[in-house]
Amino acid sequence: MGTKGRQIVDMDVDKLVQLLNKAFADEWLAYYQYWIGAKVVKGPMKEAVIAELTQHAADELRHADMLALRIIQLGGTPVTEPKEWYNLTNCGYEAPDNPFVKNVLEQNIKGEQCAIMTYKKLLNITMSKDPVTYNIVLQILQDEVEHEEDLQAEMEDLQTLLKQAK
Ligand code: FE
Ligand code: FE
Ligand code: MG
Repeated sequence: MGTKGRQIVDMDVDKLVQLLNKAFADEWLAYYQYWIGAKVVKGPMKEAVIAELTQHAADELRHADMLALRIIQLGGTPVTEPKEWYNLTNCGYEAPDNPFVKNVLEQNIKGEQCAIMTYKKLLNITMSKDPVTYNIVLQILQDEVEHEEDLQAEMEDLQTLLKQAK
């Protein structure tokens, strides 16, 4: 833990670490939802969707890494027990038990929309209080906004394709 780095945080650091650990749990669950989704997804446009899901899985894992490093910088410990992910998560986990491409896209769009709301709240909380965390959260939020748009664009293409097939 960096002493001065922790001192310049103008808020309850333990509370902040707790919030970052909740986001950290979200990222692992999002990572797995994308990763397993890319394996099981079925239906039209499968190849394009698999490429997108695989790329997003890598992004979510990178987000988990960014959050873990910041938690450690703040003197905290990233969640060490995967069982805790379910207790801490803001956005939950949706198993792609219906692997049809439309269902998988819907589940992941919902997840991204929750992630966007979560990081927007974290931005508001850290604004002018902790510029370092703010900057990390902003970078993650930019990715989540991109993820939502990517998936909604895939969904539009799919709807067009399904309409043509009728
Ligand atoms: Fe993420
Ligand atoms: Fe995302
Ligand atoms: Mg993408």
